[in-house]
Amino acid sequence: MYGGDDVHITPGMQGYIDRNNAYLTKRTQYIRDVVKKWKFDTIAVHGLYTVQEAIEDYQGSIIEPIFMSPSQAFTDSDEMAAALAYLIPSWTYSRIANPSTYYYEWTMALLEGYGFDGETSACSTSSGMAAIMTAVQPFLVHKKHHVREPRNFVATAQCYGGTFQLFNVRLMEERDIECRWVEDPTNIDEWASKIDADTRFLYGELPSNPGMGFFDVQAVADLAHSHDLPLICDSTVATPALLRPICHGADIVVQSATKTLTSSGFGTSGAVIARNNLVANIDNDDLKKDFALYIKYLPNRDSGPNLHPMQAVLTLNDMRTLRSKIDLLSQSTMKVAEYLQAHPQVESVEYLGLHNHPLHELARKYMWLVDAQHDAAYGKPVNRYGHLLSFCVKGGAATARTFFDGLQRIWRATDLGRIKSVATIPAISTHQQQGEEGRKLAHIPPNLVRLCVGAEHPDDVIADLDQALHKAGSKTAVAATGRSD
Ligand SMILES: *Cc1c(COP(=O)(O)O)cnc(C)c1O
Repeated sequence: MYGGDDVHITPGMQGYIDRNNAYLTKRTQYIRDVVKKWKFDTIAVHGLYTVQEAIEDYQGSIIEPIFMSPSQAFTDSDEMAAALAYLIPSWTYSRIANPSTYYYEWTMALLEGYGFDGETSACSTSSGMAAIMTAVQPFLVHKKHHVREPRNFVATAQCYGGTFQLFNVRLMEERDIECRWVEDPTNIDEWASKIDADTRFLYGELPSNPGMGFFDVQAVADLAHSHDLPLICDSTVATPALLRPICHGADIVVQSATKTLTSSGFGTSGAVIARNNLVANIDNDDLKKDFALYIKYLPNRDSGPNLHPMQAVLTLNDMRTLRSKIDLLSQSTMKVAEYLQAHPQVESVEYLGLHNHPLHELARKYMWLVDAQHDAAYGKPVNRYGHLLSFCVKGGAATARTFFDGLQRIWRATDLGRIKSVATIPAISTHQQQGEEGRKLAHIPPNLVRLCVGAEHPDDVIADLDQALHKAGSKTAVAATGRSD
């Protein structure tokens, strides 16, 4: 019950409840009998928005309408009372829900749950950070009123800079909730050694941005569950087209949909996707039964990290072609990674697709282009590793900056996931705030360049890298000989 204990159900309200229960049963059947049988691409294109619904309710609009309205009108007080007590599906007020974000949420839930033999649901958020904050907060409550017990959680140190700040500063320094960093997430004993009776959840980013950290999701999920804890994964870099952690035992996935899911670059958005009936050591049945619905109805209603309906449809439109885009982008990135690895001015390349990468074998177990076996071009499963890579330029921080400043076509921006190639130096941008120590923990050296390869022809991306590396190389040569010409 989400609506409080003192809801008095009138006969009029009961009428609305019965009608809507029938609707919910029909929707569940439609998902089970129709949508869950579709391939990934079909779900990405249609989600739950149907021809029939469009014609009956939305004047035939083939694209999900953008509901800019802040609130929903009700027929009478019975319908209002039932809606506000969450007894009937309704959207009520756009901070809580909205018909446009509804379609976005269902597409997210179904794509992350593709191939998963169970139910998933999603809650939209205004950004990836809002998704992370709202996914972790419900597990950090004090279990008893007026008892201030110690709380901790265990997380991969190799993670997005914003996540590092959220965990280290907002939660640990400001609120005394301990974050226990795992330095080598492939070492299951290290995870296990950090768990105790006050632990609330495990958190892992994979592949990590920008260092390409990775871990055995199934093993970490099993470990979490053996302690009655949920595993939360940030799967932004992989997207559901390459990896779906819920299928491997994870309980919750957070997405910065700002990135590859909205590759066109129209705005910021996020989502929390959860399996129903998740594992947690919190005594709250609603939270465990349908986590995404729970945060949507209660904590997020009260704090307002909701997604704008306009943004929901913009992101949704980009997601329709996710699978084929990530395939193309991954193939180009592989070519770029191979080029960089062979270049004398490059010290090292972090890309999970490279056969000599220490985490390649592990990543190969998990990162597959969804439905490649149903793709006429392949007809069998194929591995793909996404379009993010990072590399160290030989000659230290100054040379890395010369290279970076020399880029002509590749954009210098703290961004990734775009249809356009974008590069950044994490130590002076995304990971600047966490300081030298924090960067060391997260393996972010000062000469590390993060590159996200776009949909340009890979030869042109390589040509730009080549001329910039040449500039950096000649500057190093000058410095070494002390000569200038
Ligand atoms: C960008 C990013 C985030 C934060 O997402 P925003 O949409 O920028 O708030 C979280 N995790 C990863 C891996 C990211 O790349």
